[in-house]
Amino acid sequence: MTTAKILDEIAQEVAVCEKCELRFSRKNTVPGSGSPQTEILFIGEGPGFHENEQGVPFVGRSGKFLDELLTGCGMDRSTVFITNVVKCRPPSNRDPKPDELAACGRYLDRQIEAINPKVIVTLGRFSMAKFIHKAKISQIHGQPRWVRGRLIVPMYHPAAALRLGSLRPVMKEDFARLPEWIEQARQAAPEQYERATDAAEASIHEDNAEQIDLFGGAAPVPPAGDAPLFSEPEDDAADQMSLF
Ligand code: URA
Ligand code: SF4
Repeated sequence: MTTAKILDEIAQEVAVCEKCELRFSRKNTVPGSGSPQTEILFIGEGPGFHENEQGVPFVGRSGKFLDELLTGCGMDRSTVFITNVVKCRPPSNRDPKPDELAACGRYLDRQIEAINPKVIVTLGRFSMAKFIHKAKISQIHGQPRWVRGRLIVPMYHPAAALRLGSLRPVMKEDFARLPEWIEQARQAAPEQYERATDAAEASIHEDNAEQIDLFGGAAPVPPAGDAPLFSEPEDDAADQMSLF
């Protein structure tokens, strides 16, 4: 089956999904949009007012800024895929709850599997936390690392920069480096993917519960020493509750 077809099927399931409470606050589900053929996946938090009205991610003020950031580094939304950790709008734009993230996570996992992106750009702390644990976004934004064979690029959420203007230039700087990281990922991805597969197999054989995270994935692949991309996150659990 083609990637486009799989993504369509996921969207159809999402459209009638009743797996969590957020079904009550949605008008339209927002499964994601963009090119199924892309190497780059953007993951935000959840639909807001405008996304809920239109069924399309990042079409409100945050979306306008995201478009600006993409244009600034020579990209646009038709060549990437954009989705969220939850596909239905939380009431009054509140944070998604752990049970909602868990319920909706399987759709995101299937989208990642289908698209098989080399680079995943996380927008904000909820999508970052899916891949990088116990990290503080103010400390690791713009510092990519390999997780399960993909280059994860943690970025601030565009809404954070709308609330706090001083983050705008920071986000622009982080995005300006994206093309360079994408190029590095193209070159390193096959080897990293192989290492991740080996690590996942080893963890099955060792039955190492520590390796399994909240979303059922294997632990991050250890960094390869020589590349500048592989700095480690700050290990500070309290920081998960950071501003954004
Ligand atoms: N914020 C998000 O995280 N996602 C959207 O789709 C829109 C705003
Ligand atoms: Fe289903 Fe996700 Fe919507 Fe919850 S947020 S109802 S899990 S599609």
